[in-house]
Amino acid sequence: MYIKKVYGQSRPDNCPFCGKPATSKNNQGVPVCQAHREKLLSDMKCICGEWLDVRNGKFGAYFHCMSCGNISYSKGLEMNPGIKQAPAATNPTQAKKHIVITSDEVDFL
Ligand SMILES: [Zn+2]
Ligand SMILES: [Zn+2]
Repeated sequence: MYIKKVYGQSRPDNCPFCGKPATSKNNQGVPVCQAHREKLLSDMKCICGEWLDVRNGKFGAYFHCMSCGNISYSKGLEMNPGIKQAPAATNPTQAKKHIVITSDEVDFL
């Protein structure tokens, strides 16, 4: 008999930081609540020990591991239960930041 594993909702509609219903999205495209709109998923680790990159696809946010490939959003969160209710980072140098600067401005011809 096939038993389907159900983890609440299949869609990532809850804020990964507090578990509240997500009403917004952060810069990574991750659904978050209003209070955590400015918060980014960082220091996410894969089960293999590599860092996880947050990516955004057609079906929403997901993770990418250098050695395991793509990892589903919910699985990535399961691997990192510590991000929930994490205390505010007191050491900013520890935070791994992904800052993508795109410039479409053309000021010269
Ligand atoms: Zn939240
Ligand atoms: Zn991995």
